Amino acid sequence: MTPISIPVQDRLHALIERIHAAERLHSRVPGSVRLLAVSKTRPAEDVASAAAAGQSAFAENYLQEGKDKIAALAKAGYPALEWHFIGSLQGNKLKGIAENFAWVHSVDKEKNARLLSAHRPSHLPPLKVFVQVNISGEASKSGCAPENAEALCRAVTTLPRLELVGLMAISFNTDVFSLQRASFSELRILAERLREQGLPANELSMGMSQDLEAAIAEGSTWVRIGTALFGARGKA
Ligand SMILES: *Cc1c(COP(=O)(O)O)cnc(C)c1O
Repeated sequence: MTPISIPVQDRLHALIERIHAAERLHSRVPGSVRLLAVSKTRPAEDVASAAAAGQSAFAENYLQEGKDKIAALAKAGYPALEWHFIGSLQGNKLKGIAENFAWVHSVDKEKNARLLSAHRPSHLPPLKVFVQVNISGEASKSGCAPENAEALCRAVTTLPRLELVGLMAISFNTDVFSLQRASFSELRILAERLREQGLPANELSMGMSQDLEAAIAEGSTWVRIGTALFGARGKA
């Protein structure tokens, strides 16, 4: 049997409707949740289809794959897309990340923050940075411990070429809404505390294909969506 393939445009419109429905249900300001299209493992053609349908923010997890797609999309006539890096940070990739992306969601250590700032080219605006917090406490997930988030955010605000925008987290894998919500509420409460301490932690990067409604209920401002937009990923 030939698998039925739903065009990216149709998936995009359904996804935007899903986000708007969650905004309404949870009394969020209409349009306050932005969609970050996670294009890891997808060909540049998929990104071009979503861009042609109006999507402008895309995220990649690996530097080389991201650079290739950024170049391909610029060449295809989409030079104004906004590229976010959401993968784990490795020392030898930080220069390339600082040079090629506008946002980084996965800052987990002061050392990595310093190197991103040092390598951010002076002709570009400061790199927008989320501090990633390990709210699930799973050793396999990256991110700083919640009790270290304030110090790391403070360190980011002292770096000249970085702009702290907020906190990011990946929730543990569950399809139970109340558990998803409980985990995202930890990040929301942590960001509220940081704001009380004068830190500009105004954005929350949380929610993926299976838990975006729970994330929106808890104040997400960026949902990072791969599967619900581009279909299931093949095994890597
Ligand atoms: C892959 C990935 C996503 C997207 O996950 P889906 O379940 O496909 O929507 C979101 N955030 C991060 C950090 C990812 O690595």
